Amino acid sequence: MEYVSTRGSAPALDFEGVTLAGLANDGGLYLPREWPRFSQEEIAALAGLSYPALAARIMQPFVGDCLTPERLRRLTAKAYDRFSHKAVTPLGQLDERHWVLELFHGPTLAFKDVALQMLGLLFEEFLSGKNECLTIVGATSGDTGSAAIDAVAGLENVEIFMLHPKGRVSDVQRRQMTTVRAPNVHNIAIEGSFDDAQAMVKRIFADGDVTAKLRIGAVNSINWARLMAQVVYYFAASLQLGGPQRKLAFSVPTGNFGDVFAGHVAARMGLPIERLIVATNVNDILHRALSQGDYSAGTVTPTAAPSMDIQVSSNFERLLFDVGGRDGAALADQMHSFNAQKAMRLTNAQREGAARLFTSARADEAETSQAMRWAYEECGQLLDPHTAIGLHAARLADVDPTVPVVTLATAHPAKFPDAVERATGIRPGLPARIGDLFAREESYVELPGTYEAVRDHILENAA
Ligand SMILES: *Cc1c(COP(=O)(O)O)cnc(C)c1O
Repeated sequence: MEYVSTRGSAPALDFEGVTLAGLANDGGLYLPREWPRFSQEEIAALAGLSYPALAARIMQPFVGDCLTPERLRRLTAKAYDRFSHKAVTPLGQLDERHWVLELFHGPTLAFKDVALQMLGLLFEEFLSGKNECLTIVGATSGDTGSAAIDAVAGLENVEIFMLHPKGRVSDVQRRQMTTVRAPNVHNIAIEGSFDDAQAMVKRIFADGDVTAKLRIGAVNSINWARLMAQVVYYFAASLQLGGPQRKLAFSVPTGNFGDVFAGHVAARMGLPIERLIVATNVNDILHRALSQGDYSAGTVTPTAAPSMDIQVSSNFERLLFDVGGRDGAALADQMHSFNAQKAMRLTNAQREGAARLFTSARADEAETSQAMRWAYEECGQLLDPHTAIGLHAARLADVDPTVPVVTLATAHPAKFPDAVERATGIRPGLPARIGDLFAREESYVELPGTYEAVRDHILENAA
């Protein structure tokens, strides 16, 4: 399998290459040159497989010759062994029509574990053969940091420097990062906002003094391997609910457009999907883009669903490329003008291509709370605020009433206890397996919000 950049001028790479590279060197994102297809018979034959076995089957065409089927099966078995539910991503039923796909049974209680547990093992697999070390540098507003740290803690050929904005992540989120004690884990609290932390990470990637000494890697969802791992649960849900004979709709709480893009990939591979519903909070650039063709960034409004508080949605570029004719040169021009003006119009081809599968809706803070209350009072289910935004969009969506609608539950309610308690009166408790989080000792450094301080800290502490 060969991967090409959405901006057309970076070299094509194989799966190992895109996993270690993250971003393409022309500023674009990697995608398979063509989509592997499964026939309806082939999809039907996947029914009854365990989650790790299903994962290996779905991932194999993307991995190509970079791993043998046997090796890949061993990695998926190991990656999903640490999930607290045997089904890994079980389905819950809310009412006759609405289902929730629980993606939060991993070690850090958010869906990012599903992809990052796999990515950590892929890094190790590809690097140990080469005897090389990868230095991961990332910035987090909460969930990515803890999931990435958990996934790579203790690995031999990988170290991680994770920046979080001091005082601006929740206590649960911070402790999930800072209580992991492993020599290859480095937590940094910086003065400033998440955007400041993110900007420093981008500078590190572009700093020749750093890249001459260290091989820098990425764990955010620009990394193709993360999206690949997320395709699997769309198949798993469909097979549980009558697929491939019966079509489903999915409602996806969306920030960087990685999770819902994995649904688009599943559809491209042949999985019958009626609709993908992109659910946003009041930071609704994607809802405006999909409903009106207006992709323009403003300023971030903090909400009860912080992992969706974004202005620019990196993976949307992958959709624009795939539905807009796969013209890398034209997309490079479009993205450069967006970067300069912070606004652009979608082309007709992009709008029409997206409209065939995607629809969108937004939820404000009151609607988010209302959805949490409805799920609790009518269905007896506690949902986290991100999932509640997905449910709000699912209940609004204009989808054939005979089609089941599956809302992706992206975080455990205990990760956002204050918002859940405000909406429902119930304070969700942490699951027993991480119940001693507040008794564990934390370890992190605090740095001023200057690039030099962060760069020097990384150079001094990298292995
Ligand atoms: C990261 C995250 C999202 C957004 O997912 P994207 O793939 O960035 O669209 C939604 N909910 C939760 C809880 C998250 O951690």
